[in-house]
Amino acid sequence: MMRLDKMLAHSGYGTRKEVKEYIRKGYVMINGLVVTDDDYKVDEENDEITILDESVNYEKLIYIMLNKPDGYISATYDNHDPIVLDLIEGYENRGLFPVGRLDKDTVGLLLITNDGKLAHKLLAPKSHVDKVYYLKFDGIFKPFAYKEFQDGVVLDDGYKCMPAVFEELGVGEGKITIREGKFHQVKRMMEAVGCKVTYLKRISFGPIVLDETLEEGMYRHLREDEIELLQ
Ligand code: URA
Repeated sequence: MMRLDKMLAHSGYGTRKEVKEYIRKGYVMINGLVVTDDDYKVDEENDEITILDESVNYEKLIYIMLNKPDGYISATYDNHDPIVLDLIEGYENRGLFPVGRLDKDTVGLLLITNDGKLAHKLLAPKSHVDKVYYLKFDGIFKPFAYKEFQDGVVLDDGYKCMPAVFEELGVGEGKITIREGKFHQVKRMMEAVGCKVTYLKRISFGPIVLDETLEEGMYRHLREDEIELLQ
């Protein structure tokens, strides 16, 4: 059981203040009856709740696909720059966090969830989730570099990467698939073969592909089938 206003706010219908207003105005029905009392205790699993005739599903676990824009930090707190959670509205205090990190200037697919178990599984070094990035770069991707990527590029600190695949899409433009997520990995791999990344966008994370209809800064909930693919 939980307070009605809390349940609605936690389900993405607005801030606590906004949902209290909806309740007061009589927009909310529980099992067919209007309830105007915001501290009414609902059984979030079994009660039938509607807000202006739209049925409300209480989601304990939230899975969001964000097209991260440039300039945002992939963290739950930063005292200097905006964070990716600033872009997600209506889910305050739900324990959302980004699954892994993209650099501040990297754009594209970032999963946001409060499912710690799933995130842990996806981020475990041995889970080897494929991540695909589109990139632009200065310099020439030389033929020998394909083999280096295949064998495992050695980074500036001596770390040997797992095999990765590079596909050239045009001059200074390519697609790279990696299976791990070391700090600045793509940028450092490209640097190791004499190229400098000037634009980086993640287009997929395991089975989840960035929805190209999402503009930078926009997000949507994962569909049921996408959530299942991640399990
Ligand atoms: N590799 C990078 O260099 N940066 C990212 O943000 C992601 C992968």
